[in-house]
Amino acid sequence: MSEIPLSVTIQKMTFAKLAEYLDRLEETSSRLSLIDILAELFNEAKDEEIKEIVYLIQGRVAPFYEPVEIGMAEKSVAAAIAQAYGVEKEEVLSSFGQIGDLGKVAQNLNSQAKITDSHIAVKEVFAQLLQIARTSGEGTVDKKLNILSDLLKQINASSAKHLARIPLGTSRLGIGDPTVLDGLAKARAGGRENRKILEAAYNKTSDLGLIAQTLCQNDLKSVEELDVEVGRPIRSQLAERLPDAKTILEKMGGEVHMQYKYDGFRVQIHKNGDQVRLFSRNLEETTAMMPDVIAGVKKQIKAKTAIFDSEALAYNKDSEEFLPFQETTKRRRKYQVEEMAEALPLKAFVFDVMYLNGTSLVDLSLRDRMEKLTQTVSGDGVLIAQPGEFTQEVEKIETVFNDALTKGLEGLVLKKPDSKYEAGARNFNWVKLKRHSAGELKDTVDCVILGYVFGRGKRAEFGAGALLVGVYDSQKDEFVTVSKIGTGLSDEEWREIHQRADKIKLERKPARVNSILVPSVWIKPEIVIEVLADEITRSPVHTAGKTENEPGFALRFPRLVRFRDSDKKAEDATTVKELIEMYKLQYSAK
Ligand code: ATP
Repeated sequence: MSEIPLSVTIQKMTFAKLAEYLDRLEETSSRLSLIDILAELFNEAKDEEIKEIVYLIQGRVAPFYEPVEIGMAEKSVAAAIAQAYGVEKEEVLSSFGQIGDLGKVAQNLNSQAKITDSHIAVKEVFAQLLQIARTSGEGTVDKKLNILSDLLKQINASSAKHLARIPLGTSRLGIGDPTVLDGLAKARAGGRENRKILEAAYNKTSDLGLIAQTLCQNDLKSVEELDVEVGRPIRSQLAERLPDAKTILEKMGGEVHMQYKYDGFRVQIHKNGDQVRLFSRNLEETTAMMPDVIAGVKKQIKAKTAIFDSEALAYNKDSEEFLPFQETTKRRRKYQVEEMAEALPLKAFVFDVMYLNGTSLVDLSLRDRMEKLTQTVSGDGVLIAQPGEFTQEVEKIETVFNDALTKGLEGLVLKKPDSKYEAGARNFNWVKLKRHSAGELKDTVDCVILGYVFGRGKRAEFGAGALLVGVYDSQKDEFVTVSKIGTGLSDEEWREIHQRADKIKLERKPARVNSILVPSVWIKPEIVIEVLADEITRSPVHTAGKTENEPGFALRFPRLVRFRDSDKKAEDATTVKELIEMYKLQYSAK
C-alpha cells in the first residue's frame, strides 16, 4: 500500500496562469463572459492567494483607496525592459513610439529573447510589486528598476505584457468592481442570489480584496459581519432628485430633515487618535491636500475615533463669502498645498456622522445621528456642524430653500428622519432640491467619453470632431450611449481630450460598453464630463435605457460644462435610472 503523505503542498497559481486569464479577459467584448472568466479564475485560485489576484486584475497592489502606487514612469519601465532583455533603452522607447503600449513592447522583446518561464507564483510577483511601491530614499529609481527587470527575466511573453502595464497603471482590462463582485458571487458565494451580501460589505468597506479573502478563508457569514472601520472609506450615500417641496413631503412620508446643499468637494473625514485621513467622493485619499481641514478636526473633535461626511468649500476670509466651485477646485492639487490653503482656506460643513468611539453608527436613524453630530463637533471653526432641522410643512421647506438660494447656495438636501446611513445607495431617503430641478432640464448629466469620431476641416487638426458619450447602467455594470457631442469645447479642450484619449485608445469596443454607434476610435471609459442639454428625448440609436421594444434615451443639444474626472470615476457618472427620472421630471414642470 502506498504511503499517505502527511502534508500536501498546495499548488499555488503561477503568474503565467494568471496572464492566460488576463489575456482571455482582455479579448472578450461581452460582459457576461467577463463574469464567467472571472468565476473560473476565482475557482481555480487558492484561498490564500485570492486577495492578491483580486487586486492584480485591477492593476493594483492594494485597495483603490490606499494611495499605494508603484510609481514608475514610462522611462523607468522602458529601462527595466531593456535591462531584462539585453537591448538598448532607446530601442525600447522607439518601439513604444510606434506601438504605443509598453506591455506589447515587453511581450515582443521577451519572445525574441527566448526566456524560459520560471513558474513564479502570483503571490511572489505581488510581493515584489509591493516592494517596488514601498521602495523610497536614495537610489529609489534604480532599485525599483532592478526589481522589475528581475521579474521580467523570469516570465513568459504574455506575462511580461501584463506585468509591464501594472506599474504604469495602463492594464487595459477595465473590469468594474460590480463585475468582480458578480464573478466572486458565482464562483465562491453560492451564486448570484448572495451577491447582495458581498455588495453590502463592499459598500461598507470599499475593499474587494478583503471581501474575497474573508469569503474564501472564512465564509459568507463573516463577510456579512464586515463592518465600517475607521481608516477604510465608506461608499458615499447619494441623493435622488424631486421637483418641489410638495412632492418631496408626499414621497418621503410627511416629515423631512433639511440641510443646505453646498457646492464644493465631498470630504469623508476619518479620525483615529492623532491620525486624520480624508477621502473624496470617489474614495481617493485627499489627506495631503487639506492641512487646514486636518488641523480643524484635531482642534474641534474630541472623540478618539470618528468618521464624518462633509462638504468642503473655499472661503473668502475678508468678504466672509463662500466661493464658487471653480475656486474650491483650485485646492485639488499636490503641490504648493500650504500656500493655496493660506490663499483659499476651506470650511467643511459636517452633515453626518457614521462612526464614533469604536462604534458604527450607520444603522442608527438620521435623527439619532444628528444628535451625536451636535455633541461631537465643538464650536464653529474650520468645521461647521450642520445638524439641519426637521419639518412637516411645505411652506417651511420653501422658505429655507429660498434662503439657501439667497445665500448663493445650490439648494437643499432633504432626508428621511428615520433612515439609516445607506452606504453606496442612491434612493429617496436623500433627495436634492436644486434651483433648476423643477421645470425644463437645467440639471447637468455626468457622461463618460466612450470614443471619438474624427472631424473634418479645422477640427481634424485637433484630432476630434465629436465625442461619443454614455451614462452608466449600474444594474448591468455597463456603459450605454446617450449622445454625440460636438459643441461647447474650445480648441484647447479638444486638444486636451485628444491627448488624453490617445493614451487610452482601444483596439475594439470594451466589454462593458453597449453601443449601436461605432466611433472612429474606442477609448477606455474613464474621462467623465459634465454636460448640459436642452432636453432628454427618446432615440432608437442610443442604448441608454433601450429595451427590445422601446427606444433609448438621448440628450438634445448637449454641450460640455466641465471635466469631472478629478472627483468622479466612470462608475460615478449619471446612471440610466437617474436619466429616466430626469426625463420624467422635465415634464412635471408647473
Ligand atoms: P451625486 O454626488 O449625487 O452623484 P453630483 O456630483 O452631480 O451628484 P449634486 O447632484 O450636486 O452632485 O449633489 C450631491 C452632492 O451634494 C453630494 O455628493 C455632496 O457632495 C453634496 N452635498 C452638499 N451638501 C450636502 C448635504 N447637506 N447632504 C448631503 N450631500 C451634500
